[in-house]
Amino acid sequence: MDSTLRRTWAEIDMDALAHNYETLRKRIGENVKFLGVVKADAYGHGSVQVSRLLQESGADYLAVSSIDEAVELRHNGITMPVLILGHTPKEEVSELIKNNITQAVTCRAKALEYSEEAVKCGGTLKIHIKVDTGMSRLGYLCDGDYFESGVEGICEGCTLPGLDAEGIFTHFAVSDEFGEEYESYTKHQFELFTSVIDEVEKKLGKKFKIRHCANTGAVARYPETWLDMVRPGLLLYGYGDFAQELGLKPVMSLKTTVSTIKTYPAGTAISYGGIYKTDRKTRMGVVPYGYADGYFRCLSNRYELMTEEGPAPQRGKICMDMCMIDLTDKMNVDVGSEVEIFGKANPIEHMAQLAGTIPYELTCAVSKRVPRMYI
Ligand code: PLP
Repeated sequence: MDSTLRRTWAEIDMDALAHNYETLRKRIGENVKFLGVVKADAYGHGSVQVSRLLQESGADYLAVSSIDEAVELRHNGITMPVLILGHTPKEEVSELIKNNITQAVTCRAKALEYSEEAVKCGGTLKIHIKVDTGMSRLGYLCDGDYFESGVEGICEGCTLPGLDAEGIFTHFAVSDEFGEEYESYTKHQFELFTSVIDEVEKKLGKKFKIRHCANTGAVARYPETWLDMVRPGLLLYGYGDFAQELGLKPVMSLKTTVSTIKTYPAGTAISYGGIYKTDRKTRMGVVPYGYADGYFRCLSNRYELMTEEGPAPQRGKICMDMCMIDLTDKMNVDVGSEVEIFGKANPIEHMAQLAGTIPYELTCAVSKRVPRMYI
């Protein structure tokens, strides 16, 4: 059965995506490479479609989180360089080499494993060294007392057989946060990163081709960190304050339609748990959008969906497959009418704020059963 018959869908505005890419490309100039972060199915937008557009537009690199995500791109005609940011099991090294996929190397143990496997299969694995400068997640630890051992480990990783260290990168933890403390933290991360690079390059007597660290916050605020390549995700999809300031456009609009409408007397309990009771004669619509589609249940009774006649409050607990919206004052909204969950009329930032989260989580949460329509 055609899943669109359920009638909740995500519109992906490819012109907005192209506009965002072109705007960011202009911002960074021709001498800085552009890596588009397309992990987690391009933050829910569809990694194959987003990558195709970036490839056709002349972007330089893509990043994903796992080998499955990278191979999916290769199987769908994406030939441009792809970097895996996360760990790949050593058994998959030959698959990486076969598909010309670049792997992040985050510590000595992984470097040794990858080298051994690459030599075994007689190939060369392209790698980018990850430096942990303060995100405290993945990467060679290099801060303070760890500087020398970190540099030594990286130098070893760069000279192991079977590995070609094309790049080196780090990740900022607070580049999107405002305040002196955060700004000096980012500055410290950047200075540590460049010191590590200088030291490693001095010791090895050669330069990395691609040094990169700028995520969304840094692309927007710290041009000095752009180095050879920037690495934004969220900005590309057009959400958040930085995107607005840079004139970028939101790419995803999540839409649904009214499936049924009933009129209840005052005092009727709506949905599980009866947390909402009508306070007047109420014309209540049901829309096929529930927590299995990505509507956070913690938003029950708190959010408004946008109809052609303005915002309609969602009433009662959100169910797995549907929820109820109050259409009492919206007599032109009928069965089949379109309702925007978030998008151009109902900005995602508002929903994210209400849910106590960030737009990233909302677009990633739009589940597989919600078809993406590329317009
Ligand atoms: N680089 C790395 C290593 C990441 O993990 C991410 C996202 O989580 C990004 C870049 C892109 O971040 P943003 O979407 O904030 O630009």
